[in-house]
Amino acid sequence: MTLRVTKRKTTKNMMPAVEKLAGVDLSECYQCKKCACGCPVSGHTEAPPSEIIRRLQLGAGDDILNSDIIWTCSSCETCHARCPMGIDMAAVMDALRILAVKRHAPTPKGDIPTFNRAFLKTVNIFGRTYDLAMIAAYKLRTATVMKDMHKLPAMLKKRKIAVLPPRGADKKTVKRIFDSIGRKKGIRQ
Ligand code: SF4
Ligand code: SF4
Repeated sequence: MTLRVTKRKTTKNMMPAVEKLAGVDLSECYQCKKCACGCPVSGHTEAPPSEIIRRLQLGAGDDILNSDIIWTCSSCETCHARCPMGIDMAAVMDALRILAVKRHAPTPKGDIPTFNRAFLKTVNIFGRTYDLAMIAAYKLRTATVMKDMHKLPAMLKKRKIAVLPPRGADKKTVKRIFDSIGRKKGIRQ
């Protein structure tokens, strides 16, 4: 029997693009793993944050954009606070999310990008998060309008969800921030 070993095709090294977007120098990471030890989600993902950096250092291509931690990272900044080299891992995750959306990478964790977009859209429009609009936008985009609807009356009764849009937000300033970041990073909201 002949065993054929073929060299795996790799795409372009992603590290420079991530470093540019995140404003970090990933070569400074020396794999102490303090970030991974403090990360609240790394135990539920395939690869902890330190491994993502190591893979980037080793020349990972587009396949790194399929990593589930990109979408489970809560941007809590614990890793950044613990890192002896001051590497802003939350910014790295943001950069990977932007690249994943731009390159239409598959998302391992359901509809998290759709949820993110629905959340940001409502903040952009109302100046603050507006749960009811966000849920409606998410459900329409994922065709899950009736799912969990039985929970709505109880949530409204307990005031877990506000019926009316938030008041008092500085909409103009928030919109200006969105526009400015969108222009800078080439994102369409
Ligand atoms: S804490 Fe910083 S230096 Fe240590 S592994 Fe994580 S990113 Fe690298
Ligand atoms: S910012 Fe993301 S990667 Fe860093 S500790 Fe928090 S959840 Fe983990």
